Amino acid sequence: MNRARVVLTPPPGRRPTVAVWKFASCDGCQLSLLDCEDQLLLLAGAAQIAHFSEMSSASVAGPYDLSLVEGSITTPEDAERIVAVRRSSRRLVTIGACATAGGIQGLRNFAASGSYVSTVYAHPEYIATLETSTPIAAHVPVDFELHGCPIDRGQLLEVLTAFLAGRTPRIGGYSVCQECKARGTVCLLVTKGEPCLGPVTRAGCGALCPAVDRACFGCFGPAETTNTSSLAARFLADGLAPVDVTRLFRTFNAGAPAFRDEATAHDPRS
Ligand code: SF4
Ligand code: SF4
Repeated sequence: MNRARVVLTPPPGRRPTVAVWKFASCDGCQLSLLDCEDQLLLLAGAAQIAHFSEMSSASVAGPYDLSLVEGSITTPEDAERIVAVRRSSRRLVTIGACATAGGIQGLRNFAASGSYVSTVYAHPEYIATLETSTPIAAHVPVDFELHGCPIDRGQLLEVLTAFLAGRTPRIGGYSVCQECKARGTVCLLVTKGEPCLGPVTRAGCGALCPAVDRACFGCFGPAETTNTSSLAARFLADGLAPVDVTRLFRTFNAGAPAFRDEATAHDPRS
């Protein structure tokens, strides 16, 4: 769920504190914050970055005015830790496909119990993990979800600016097709019959892949309104096998309900 209408009001009279937390993830979304470079220095002037392990070992004790949370919940310890993070955070924003949809590690949710652990680790008996990878919102209330794998730094700066200014973030829920048209890219689906997820994927990347002749992977997850069954029917009519439709929808945002349900509808095992 996109909670875009929640206003993040900064506290009066002092610099707001910002904390960044990592759960099961690759750190790519935290790197998007570090990648803000000059704007990061401006942010450090406007707010106190109180906890951000990727940037500094120094940590200021909470409570925090705003927490950014990257990653999904995959262990019993993390299921407890996110409750503590929520308790110490005035506002909590999840960043990236792992935190908002369970991430690529959410593929375990569609596999036989424990099969991934025994495939990856020589001694699976040493691994303590949950059966599923779940988004943060499945465990605690979330004030705003920022999508993408990784997130777009421009959108991240918009969320942080909105928090500091006390207004609602202006993040559109429309599809990648709109960005694709805006930059004048010739449509790969229409002209080449490429299986492009752009019509059902949330904008934010600037339609990067179609611009370099690659159909959209769906990194930003489902757009606010989608018609996945219509798009899947088009893929099938163009000759895609049902199992490949499942694979298309089941990647970084496999756990997002619209993509999850469409993938399952074509899964030969279901
Ligand atoms: S959403 Fe993608 S880039 Fe961000 S932490 Fe997860 S895997 Fe990495
Ligand atoms: S190439 Fe993909 S994203 Fe771009 S307009 Fe066509 S379907 Fe939409």
